[in-house]
Amino acid sequence: MSISCQYHQYLVRPIGLFALLLASAVAIAQTANDFPKTYSDIDYSQKIDSLRNLYGQKISYQNAEQMELATLLAVSHYPLLQNRKIKVIIRKVKGAPVEASFSPFNFIKPRKSKIYKIIIHENSFMERLGLNKQIAALGHEMAHFIQYEERGYFGTLFGLLRYVSSDKYRITFEKKADKVAIDHGLGPLMFDFSFYTSKEEIKIYMDEKGYGY
Ligand SMILES: [Zn+2]
Repeated sequence: MSISCQYHQYLVRPIGLFALLLASAVAIAQTANDFPKTYSDIDYSQKIDSLRNLYGQKISYQNAEQMELATLLAVSHYPLLQNRKIKVIIRKVKGAPVEASFSPFNFIKPRKSKIYKIIIHENSFMERLGLNKQIAALGHEMAHFIQYEERGYFGTLFGLLRYVSSDKYRITFEKKADKVAIDHGLGPLMFDFSFYTSKEEIKIYMDEKGYGY
């Protein structure tokens, strides 16, 4: 049923040390205001190796290698998920163009073997979006993983039952995911790309929280 990222050996290789230094810098800059407001495809494509070192060690792709840059940048906003396995999959599926898969087994597995899957509908518009919109969409899906972690097994299961049976609950749940994404510095990217929360609502929330845009 479904509704809708480490570095090591830093003493061994110079690249590892570089990654550690970068990670420390990122660890300090973890408030919503410290992330870029937009990402330039050209600039960040050139940084893919260091991004992969920093955030990509636990991310795998199935037919979705073209989503790597957007995935790495989205997960850079979520320190918690940098310690989780994430799999991005593009395949023929029915339903939403992109979804954050919920597996009940994730809750009985030890934290290290949990796998969070983001499933993207093959040939959907997701593949054709620009970098910033892809990050916004993936960031929204990753916010669901945070919601699952916060709610735990029964909370998530109960939530999913309500999700499929109540439109009102579904919209509230989705708007909360948008807030989680905004709290993780993705607000400016969501102005142009958010399904559930209007640009005005995003602005109001960001003003309330003192987030710049
Ligand atoms: Zn969602």
